[in-house]
This record gives sequence, structure tokens and C-alpha cells, in this order.
Amino acid sequence: MSETPPRVLVINSGSSSLKYQLVEPEDGVSIASGIAERIGEPVSHTEHRFGDKEVAMDQPILDHTAALREALRLFDQVGPKLEEANIVAVGHRVVQGGRYFSGPALIDDQTRNLIDQLSPLAPLHNPAHLKGIDVARKMLPDVPHVAVFDTAFFQSLPDESATYALDKETADKYSIRRYGAHGTSHQYVSGRVHDLLGRKRIRQIVLHLGNGASASAVVNGEAVDTSMGLTPLEGLVMGTRTGDIDPAAVFHLMRNGGMKIDEIDTLFNKRSGLKGLTGDNDMRSVRARANAGDKEARLALDVVLHRLVKYVGAYAAEMGGLDVLTFTAGIGENDSALRQELCDKLKMFGITLDPVANVLRSKDPRTISAADSKVRVMVVPTNEELAIAQQAMSLLD
Ligand code: ADP
Repeated sequence: MSETPPRVLVINSGSSSLKYQLVEPEDGVSIASGIAERIGEPVSHTEHRFGDKEVAMDQPILDHTAALREALRLFDQVGPKLEEANIVAVGHRVVQGGRYFSGPALIDDQTRNLIDQLSPLAPLHNPAHLKGIDVARKMLPDVPHVAVFDTAFFQSLPDESATYALDKETADKYSIRRYGAHGTSHQYVSGRVHDLLGRKRIRQIVLHLGNGASASAVVNGEAVDTSMGLTPLEGLVMGTRTGDIDPAAVFHLMRNGGMKIDEIDTLFNKRSGLKGLTGDNDMRSVRARANAGDKEARLALDVVLHRLVKYVGAYAAEMGGLDVLTFTAGIGENDSALRQELCDKLKMFGITLDPVANVLRSKDPRTISAADSKVRVMVVPTNEELAIAQQAMSLLD
């Protein structure tokens, strides 16, 4: 038997990129990682890291087959060598699992076809995932491949939370309901909170605030609501997405602005949110500008905070109370000013932050509320690759 602990190769395949990470699910160590970007363009970019060794190259990468072949070559050249890597499974991130998947699934032809069938609900994502899945199954045929779905954690949503008040026949015909997204992160982070606090009964809100942003309400480990909906467009204000907006804006822009549906799709998904309000989708720049007195940037932050307050209030009311409020992802983990501003607006819940704990920088999960706060406030770094690796392993066990 090999001395090397079991490892999972986690693959996140996009339309023009293929990211991978070799993870030890038991102790959460990332052994190696890499990316091929701008696949199919005249010059693609590849990177591979193993320990303190790193290589980066610009070279043509024709398609996903070439991208994975290059990744496997880099494993052999930079390390760890594949025959010594002890890869026991490949975990694939899949954005949309629809009503079919409420947990990880072994990828056989049937699973593959279901992921394909769900493409109309995630046209940018599922077909791109399938490219990665197909080449990986061919090139690594001796290990099981597992799909881990962004929507799976939210399949437990009660009907009243997943159902839109839309004509039932139309909703059923076109599979329109709340699927949520970022579920792997919400499940991982809320699960860590349970592990760390050692209590079963917890009503928590997880705020995943990155470039994409979403909130979830989780009672005793089960999701009961989430802000992303049919697609990741709904909910919080994001880097480039509107979040909640009156759908009548679409009719107005088509009727009176002469806009086509694809233009509005791009407008809402890529040219709105922080970017739409300030021209800048990076929270660090928006905050720096607001600190320097830029009124546009300050308004953008206030819109972000206003939406967050709405969701926290609504979810606390839905759950009949709130025990833990947890921040995660790029902004949630790093932007102590946003955490302070939000918690100041949530005083009616008896929330008080410990200002010293809040600004302490750390990669570890931590409590940042004051000892007398009625709600515990935490920062728990997310780790979607580890979560995917662990879910893949759980299926093998
Ligand atoms: P995604 O995975 O959705 O692309 P991330 O979780 O990496 O996004 O988060 C990216 C966001 O986090 C960006 O808006 C970035 O500005 C913000 N961010 C990262 N570090 C900080 C920081 N120190 N302060 C404020 N925002 C930060």
C-alpha cells in the first residue's frame, strides 16, 4: 500500500479555462494546483504550482483535451509525479444540478446526460463543465469521477422558499424555481460552524461575499433559504451583477430602450453591481475611493449594505431568530470595514462586534463578536476545492 494519503484531483472546467487542485481531503492540504486560461485563443496561459515550485507559460492550448494533457505533463515535470500522487478520485465542480442532484454523484453516462440536459438552466456553465468531465474521464479512466453540484445543498429548501409565484404550468414546463448557487461553499462554511461550536441546534446566516455574492439561512445544518435563484443573478449586490431588480426593468429596456434580450443579459450580469455603480468591480478599489471621499463609491457601498441588511432581517425573521452570522469569501473574509458597517446596522438584533477581533487578520475560522453579543459573528474562510474533494471522498467511502 502507498504511504501517500489518498488525494482527490479537483477540476473546475469553464468555457475557456481549466482549473485544478490536488487535495488531501483528510487533512485539507492542497498539494498542487494549476490553471490553463484563454483556451482556444492564439496565446493561452498555463500555471502549475507544487510546494514552492511554480511554472507559468504562455503557449497555444487548442482545447480542453490539450489543457488537461498539459496539466498532466506538468504534474510529471514539476510534481508530484502521477504514479506517486495517489489520486483516488477526480471531483468535478458542476454549477447546475437541477432537481436531479441533492448530493455528489458518481459520473457515469447517465449522470453525464443529466448534466447535459440541465444545460438550458446554466448555458454558460454546464456545457463547459462537460468538456472537462469528458476529457478527464478519458485521460484518467482508472479512478472514479464525481460531480459536486453548486445547487445540491439547496435542494432541501422548503417549497415555499423555492417556489416563485409564477403561473404554475409555465414554471413547471420551464423548470423555473429557486436552485441557488455557491451551495458547496454555504454547506462547507455552515458545517464548519457546527463543528467548531459543537452544537446541533443553530440558526445561522452565511454571507458568501466575493465577486459573486449570496446569503443563506441554515437551520441545524439544513438550508432553508438562499438569495440566488433560478440563476446566480438574484439576491445581493455583486461585483458585476444587479442582484434583485424589478423584472419589469427588462420590459422597459426592451420596449423603450430598444435593447435585445442578450444585451440585457450582459447588462445585468456583467455591467451592473459595483461595476455598474462605480465603473469598478473590485471591492478594494471601491472602498479606497469611498475612503478618499468619492460619493459614487460611497453610494455603491451603501447600496450593498442596504441589501445585506434586508436579507439578514428577512432570514432572521424566517428562522424565528438568529444564533450565528458568518462571513466568508474574498470580501467577507477580508473587508473588516464592511463587517463593522453591516453589524452597526444590525444593532436591533443585539449584535456587537469586538473591534479588535474584527480587524485581526488570520486564515483561521474565528469569532469576531463581543462576549455580550446576542448573536455570535464569525469569519470562516471558505475552501470550495477541499469541500469538493471531501464530498467526492464521502461517496467513495
Ligand atoms: P470570486 O471567487 O467570486 O471571484 P473572491 O471570493 O476571490 O471572488 O472575492 C473577490 C472580492 O474580494 C473582490 O471584490 C476583492 O476586491 C475582494 N477582496 C479581496 N481582498 C480584500 C480586502 N482585503 N478588502 C476588501 N475586499 C477584498
